[in-house]
Amino acid sequence: MDKKLWEERIKKIRNIGIMAHIDAGKTTLTERFLYYSGRIHKIGEVDEGTATMDWMEEEKERGITITSAATYAPWRDGIINLIDTPGHVDFTAEVERSLRVLDGAIAVFCGVGGVEPQSETVWRQADKYNVPRLAFINKMDRVGADFFSAVDSMITKLAAKPLIMQLPIGEEENFKGVIDLLKMKAIYWNEEDLGETYFYEEIPDDLIDLAMEYREKLIENVVELDDRILEEYLDGKIPDEKTLKKLIRKGTLKKEFFPVFCGSALKNKGVQPLFDAVLDYLPAPIDLPPIEGIDPKTREVIQRERTIDAPFTALMFKIQYDPEKRKLFYLRIYSGKLDLNTPIYNPVRNEMERIGRLFRMHSNKRERIKEAYAGDIIAVIGLKNTYTGDTLCSKDAPIILERVQFPEPVIFVSIEPKTSLDQEKLSKALESLSEEDPTFKIKVDKETGQTIISGMGELHLEVLTHRIQKDFKVNAKVGKPQVAYRESIKGSAEHEIKFVKVSAGTTHYAHVVLKVEPNERGKGNIFINKVSEDILPSQFVAAIEESITNSFQSGIILGYPIVDIKVTLINGSYDIQNSNEVDFKIVASRTFYEACRKANPILLEPIMDIEVTVPKEFLGDAIQTIQQRKGIIKQVIEKKNLQIIKCQAPLSKMFGYATDLRSATQGRGTFTMQLSHYEEVKNKEDIFNIYTDV
Ligand code: GDP
Ligand code: MG
Repeated sequence: MDKKLWEERIKKIRNIGIMAHIDAGKTTLTERFLYYSGRIHKIGEVDEGTATMDWMEEEKERGITITSAATYAPWRDGIINLIDTPGHVDFTAEVERSLRVLDGAIAVFCGVGGVEPQSETVWRQADKYNVPRLAFINKMDRVGADFFSAVDSMITKLAAKPLIMQLPIGEEENFKGVIDLLKMKAIYWNEEDLGETYFYEEIPDDLIDLAMEYREKLIENVVELDDRILEEYLDGKIPDEKTLKKLIRKGTLKKEFFPVFCGSALKNKGVQPLFDAVLDYLPAPIDLPPIEGIDPKTREVIQRERTIDAPFTALMFKIQYDPEKRKLFYLRIYSGKLDLNTPIYNPVRNEMERIGRLFRMHSNKRERIKEAYAGDIIAVIGLKNTYTGDTLCSKDAPIILERVQFPEPVIFVSIEPKTSLDQEKLSKALESLSEEDPTFKIKVDKETGQTIISGMGELHLEVLTHRIQKDFKVNAKVGKPQVAYRESIKGSAEHEIKFVKVSAGTTHYAHVVLKVEPNERGKGNIFINKVSEDILPSQFVAAIEESITNSFQSGIILGYPIVDIKVTLINGSYDIQNSNEVDFKIVASRTFYEACRKANPILLEPIMDIEVTVPKEFLGDAIQTIQQRKGIIKQVIEKKNLQIIKCQAPLSKMFGYATDLRSATQGRGTFTMQLSHYEEVKNKEDIFNIYTDV
């Protein structure tokens, strides 16, 4: 494909996500989009467990979306790449990585509930990634639907400026269609063909005044974006539809406002104009500024134009296993092109890679393609040494793009297979799941031999353990969720062990002297060797280092990982005939533990950064919920009618907080929580509680 052809094509590509609170109707809306675009020939329904995008067992059963499934469909003369994202905070990693690779989004709100807690959270995430958005007020057919109050909640809860593009004709069971304020026409959908066809009519008499009023507001809002047009408007000249659309596009890309549409996905009304608006107002990949990254050699920030003739650059943002258990790697291509013969380089691992096949994804189905270009989101198989968040690029023009930031897991459960066959199946399941989900980690407890899995929250682990049991058919017992602590030391100490033993005719000899001391918090563990080659040959030093590095994985108090310790090998000796590496490993690890035991070992707990957002009138109640949980309030910020409380609290005190906050604020408060740092558990009682938990 040459540049001109590509430019024609890229202008018509939209990479977008649909984001919303759980149950707002994302999946229902997506099904309609796929149906009207011709991608699917039957509308699947969430309620019947037949939705195309919710293909995992777990999703069908719960009727929720967990993994973001990618799909694409032709729309009008363009192509829309769509990623369906889950709404629950525990799956925040999915949302983050979607927002990282998308160019625009549709925010779906419920016509009854308006802006609900999780839609606030996701909205703020989208703010962070600078994503232009359209809003869709769904469920206009439901009892209690109220268009204007839903739009109002965008102002009061999100501090966003809505640009009303449509008005509903009727509400609740009388919802009939929408008024297009640009064309000043009513749109109705044919019920016989599931809304596939629709027609324009005159606006009903009783709504003409209202429509005039809102059209006026719409125009006033957009002419401000262009001085010349504003002047003309003030002189009485109304811009034509084409000019208005151009201005709306401009304002949307700059996030001056968010165009608002409405309808009922379930009743097949309002879907087509919304997706037309995706093409009209959301950015094409080429509309965005050059992508930034780091030169792996100089570490300087460099930029790359998002065009087909720039060197190949892509971000591998997701791994998923297909039903044949092959690894699929999702790529967002930012520049250049990719085919099976393109040599690709992973600058993060400093390795060349090769791809086996290239696919365009449609939920869990896929279509083989020969080439892909700047702006595309595709999947490949065959990568050997590339991990989620890695950049792939041309060897001649290396660049490392910013990784998706995934939070560290803070909660864990033990999982015990019932039989040895289950043990095998469990290992496979865990490997697959952790590759798909970077916020899910696995570890085997050395002492008990138990498998421990950790993740972002209770629901996250619940879904994962169900998948292990159901999808991978592992018969296993799952423990109670617990906080992931860390261990360290407060003092410093030395310890010496000289091991001499004659057993079964052979003599063993190993002698190690270690010093342990605290390293600066957050700086990690280090091992330093201070002995010379003639005192201890390097193979023994290497054995000691390896053994100590392994020992970092489980601490002295309760076996949690050790952090921020500096270990120095200060002396030792060996016997030319009778020393071996295995003995040095055993002695080193014992010496290390004994030294730590003398160095005032401490337990560290995760302290969370929490942001609670509440309407003004609930500030007092919200603060109380934080204080009850030993939280420390750092700052309260006012934003329009909202109060944002920034605070910190130990994770161990935060179980069940969502429920608490909801009842204290009549469901109006929301919060986000992420790991800030680890702090010593000082309270003896707390430590005792942890002991009894184990
Ligand atoms: P998601 O969690 O955002 O993906 O929401 P779903 O698409 O799974 O929808 C949640 C529930 O709302 C399902 O029971 C849908 O049938 C229902 N629903 C979706 N859209 C509408 C709508 O426009 N009107 C009404 N009355 N119900 C809807
Ligand atoms: Mg869904």
